[in-house]
Amino acid sequence: MYESLVNFVDYCNCITIVASRVNELRERRTLDDEGIRELLESDDESLAEELFRHAREVAVGQFGPVVWLRALIEWSNVCRNDCYYCGIRRSNRALPRYSLTRDEILSCCDQAWRLGLRTFVLQGGENPPAAEKLAETVAEMRASWPEAAISLSLGELPGETYALLRRSGANRYLLRHETAKPALYARLHPAGMRLENRLACLHHLRALGFKTGMGMMVGSPYQTTDDLIADIRLMEEFRPEMIGLGPFIPQHDTPFRDFPAGSASTTLRLYAILRLMLPQAWIPATTALSTLRPDGRTAGILAGANVVMPNFTPVERRDSYALYDGKSRPDAEAAETLNQLKLELDTIGYHV
Ligand code: SAM
Repeated sequence: MYESLVNFVDYCNCITIVASRVNELRERRTLDDEGIRELLESDDESLAEELFRHAREVAVGQFGPVVWLRALIEWSNVCRNDCYYCGIRRSNRALPRYSLTRDEILSCCDQAWRLGLRTFVLQGGENPPAAEKLAETVAEMRASWPEAAISLSLGELPGETYALLRRSGANRYLLRHETAKPALYARLHPAGMRLENRLACLHHLRALGFKTGMGMMVGSPYQTTDDLIADIRLMEEFRPEMIGLGPFIPQHDTPFRDFPAGSASTTLRLYAILRLMLPQAWIPATTALSTLRPDGRTAGILAGANVVMPNFTPVERRDSYALYDGKSRPDAEAAETLNQLKLELDTIGYHV
């Protein structure tokens, strides 16, 4: 009896400490490592709810109850890299390769624009010669939709290619750093790929005037809470305008096929922590999260994310952009998906 009372008092003390961590993070926009660890590791879901509540209050304070839509166009799955986690890695011979033509890309943009989207995101495997060629299409996109934001996610490219893409009219670039720790980076990627290069690219992109995005997978193989804290510190220092993060999900044709998926709960906590640290950041509720949890989009928004990226890739290509297993890919046409999304957001009191 006495023992259970002591346990109960300890439990209450623990909740009070973690709740005060959330307040401190919101007030000071930073928190020490121990505090972050508690927020990430506490198994009390009511505390996580408290963290999410603060994060969404901050997001709504910044932007209103609004979710920003970005039209995702997975323009090519041809990649020179061999990242151990990724389904479009070079060594995956099981995958039919494709690159969308200029006409296909412009038609995806046209469809998105007509449906009211004002940001196009071209994402694809790392392929420097193709990226250089893509600059011509980017220039056409810029000429046809002068008011649109053009966001790219094409990996590490030579400085002159970044500069060319910028001159052609692209204004945002998402390059996830994947992990802030060189040792973990080396376990996720083959020799030859270096964190140093990736970070140098991010600095270069910013110097060229791109709004930059970084981020990582949550729960990638070998990742620890210390690694996630290092990721948070790196983003706190770099202050990216966009943050792309979602859970790791295994893909059956990769060396990491037998590792478990990352945690949706940790992903949501990271959205919330980063929202409280960087109130103005664009944080998408990612497709990977929706793959783990059918309500991933709304859960993400309620934890402080403020962007959703409906997929405008032609339906017949979506299977081939197989980054991980079960990648949620509504076969429905974009207009229908968009209506569905609006209804979902409506139920939580948000609009696009
Ligand atoms: N090639 C570009 C690059 O390297 O930035 C963009 C495309 S890359 C496939 C986009 C992101 O997908 C990666 O940064 C990685 O974080 C994520 N990704 C790849 N494989 C994944 C997996 N198995 N689970 C979850 N996310 C994955």
